[in-house]
Amino acid sequence: MYYNQNTILFFDGEFINAQNAKTDLYGQSLHYGYAVFEGIKSYKTSNGTKIFKALEHYERLKRSAELMMIPFEYSAEEMMEITYRLLEKNNLSNAYIRPLVICSPNMSLSKGKQSSLVIEVWNWDNGYLANQMKVMTSSFQRPNPKAFKVEAKVSGHYVNSILACQEAKDKGFDEAIVLDENGFVAESSGANVFYEKDNTLFTAPKGNILPGITRATVFEICDQLGIQYEEKFSTPEEMRGSDAAFFCGTAAEIVALGSMDEVSFAKPWEDTKAALIQTAYRHLVLEEDYSYLKERLQYVS
Ligand code: PMP
Repeated sequence: MYYNQNTILFFDGEFINAQNAKTDLYGQSLHYGYAVFEGIKSYKTSNGTKIFKALEHYERLKRSAELMMIPFEYSAEEMMEITYRLLEKNNLSNAYIRPLVICSPNMSLSKGKQSSLVIEVWNWDNGYLANQMKVMTSSFQRPNPKAFKVEAKVSGHYVNSILACQEAKDKGFDEAIVLDENGFVAESSGANVFYEKDNTLFTAPKGNILPGITRATVFEICDQLGIQYEEKFSTPEEMRGSDAAFFCGTAAEIVALGSMDEVSFAKPWEDTKAALIQTAYRHLVLEEDYSYLKERLQYVS
C-alpha cells in the first residue's frame, strides 16, 4: 500500500529504492520511540504540485528535533527542495509526505549522537469522508506535559494515540476525544478538535496538545471570513451536544463529527460555520480564492 518495487525514498542524502532501504535494529528510535516526524500533504493545484504549508511543517520538524536534543542539520528549505524532487521521482502530485528523523545505534538513555533523515511519500486520494464521525470520550488521557514535550511530534507519543484510537474502534466508534490531565478536551489521537456553539468556534489552548498547522490554518480562515473563535479549556459536557464539531489535521483536513458519546451535535452540518471552514480549507490547499464564502456567512447563524 505504501510502496512497491518502483518507489523511491530519501535516506541520508540519497534517493534510493524503498525495497533496498535498510536500518539497524540497535537504535534508540526503534527501542524507545526516540524519533521525530512530520505528516505533510501535497496537492495537484492549477499552479502545479504544491506542498501545503511546507515551511511550517519542516520548521516544526526542526523544533521537534531540538526539543528532543536530537542533532539535526537540514534546513527547512533544503528539505522542501528534496521533497519536491522526491515527489517528481515518484510521479506523485496528491501525496502524503512522511519525514522521519531517526537516531544512530545507541542503547543507552542519553541523547542521540547522530541522526538520519528519511522522507517517504505515497499516493493520497483526496476524497471527502462521506460519513460524519462517531466519537467517544477516551478513558486514556493525553501525555502529561510535565512528562513529555507535548508540542513536539515525537514517535513515542503515538503509543498513547494508538491506545486511544483502538479503544474507540473496539467500542464501535470511529475515533476518540482525548482529555488532558485536568479533564478538559485536548485533541483526538491524531488531530485537533474544534466545536461550534452560538456561532463561535472553540478549541483547546496550547499546552496539552500538538499545536496543529491545520489548527493555525483554521484560525487564518476564521480571520479571513470574520468567524469568531476562542482558545479555551472546555469540559466534555460543554462540547457534547454543542452545535457542531470537527477534527482538523493535515491528513484528515476538516472532518465533521456526527456525535460524541452517542449524543448528536445539534445543527445539520451544512448549516454551520464549521462547514464553511471545511469548504474554505479545500480551496486554500488548492490555492483557490475562497472570499466568496463571506457572503454565505449571513445564511449561517
Ligand atoms: N494532534 C495530533 C496528536 C496529531 O497527530 C496531529 C497530526 N499531526 C494533529 C494534532 C494535527 O496537526 P497538523 O494540523 O499539523 O497535521
